[in-house]
Amino acid sequence: MLDIRITKTQHPKDKPDQEHLGFGHYYTDHMFIMDYTEGQGWHDARIEPYHALSLDPAAMVFHYAQESFEGMKAYRTADGNVQLFRPYKNAARFASTHRRLCIPEIPEEDFVQAVKALVDIDRDWVPNAPNTSLYLRPFTIATEAHLGVKPSNSYAFIVIASPSGAYYASGLAPVKIYVEDEYVRATPGGTGYIKCGGNYAASLAGQEKAEKLGYSQVLWLDGIERKYVEEVGSMNCFFKIAGKIYTAPCVGTVLPGITRMSCIELLRHWGYEVNDTDRLAIADVIKAADNGTLEEVFGTGTAAVISPVGQLYYQGKECVVGDGKTGEVTQKLYDTLTGIQYGRLEDTHGWIEKV
Ligand SMILES: *Cc1c(COP(=O)(O)O)cnc(C)c1O
Repeated sequence: MLDIRITKTQHPKDKPDQEHLGFGHYYTDHMFIMDYTEGQGWHDARIEPYHALSLDPAAMVFHYAQESFEGMKAYRTADGNVQLFRPYKNAARFASTHRRLCIPEIPEEDFVQAVKALVDIDRDWVPNAPNTSLYLRPFTIATEAHLGVKPSNSYAFIVIASPSGAYYASGLAPVKIYVEDEYVRATPGGTGYIKCGGNYAASLAGQEKAEKLGYSQVLWLDGIERKYVEEVGSMNCFFKIAGKIYTAPCVGTVLPGITRMSCIELLRHWGYEVNDTDRLAIADVIKAADNGTLEEVFGTGTAAVISPVGQLYYQGKECVVGDGKTGEVTQKLYDTLTGIQYGRLEDTHGWIEKV
């Protein structure tokens, strides 16, 4: 149990208009912060008014990107309660990210306690307009002032919160995807399976290229042969071909998404066959599109929940997925997950944690 010292703001901010929140534009009144010092461990857990950080320009995070993060949401139910979705899964993944980056781990209970404490103090910031939420961003940065390459001897673990709008203004809207066969996102032995800022810096060039060509996201192929499908943008990716469902195995280059995990559990519960162990070649996806068996493609992640894919562009060729509209399974997953998250459906899987 963390002993969290609380300093409340003397200057509460005006809340933004719930109809125009967008994503990542506004921040709540408070932040959680906890320090790590070698020899002392994690200490001084506290909630303070939201404020800018003061760091030495030599702080190691700026030079060698020793940084971890998570993404999760707090949801407002119709009866006014506030709840989280599978927060212990985020805590476990954060610990795995820390191990890979040589950052001292934060006990899972402490991670969840920190997130809940911030949501609790900024409870009024959890919006209640349909499909809005309070996006939560826990992250850790290396703070030691030192230019040698080695793990830092001090860190700060911080949680900030941002009220965010409905991802889809009017129902699920299928997007056009560019299959990237030049840049790669992850390679075996690398950091593709963890959430760290460096992965995103490396993905920007591919994303920018796709946008210039008129596509909204990149479909990433494996980093060695550029042959197998891995992820779409910053989401996991699912394919429904002739009734069966495929998603890339989490074998080091694919981020183990909590939405991915929940979709697999729901799909199996509904009786679908889900293959999450064999890699799926892009050639087989294109073949399925050609012979009319590529029924649905969708991305999964906390921000968009489920993002239907209507078209794929690969090596000079445009393929339509299904009839180009949101598929039946895609829609059912979206309705079920958001139903559970917002408390409209019963939480039969034990995924909800009340704040
Ligand atoms: C965060 C993330 C996901 C989705 O994970 P969720 O736990 O479902 O939000 C997928 N791919 C990448 C690369 C990510 O960073």
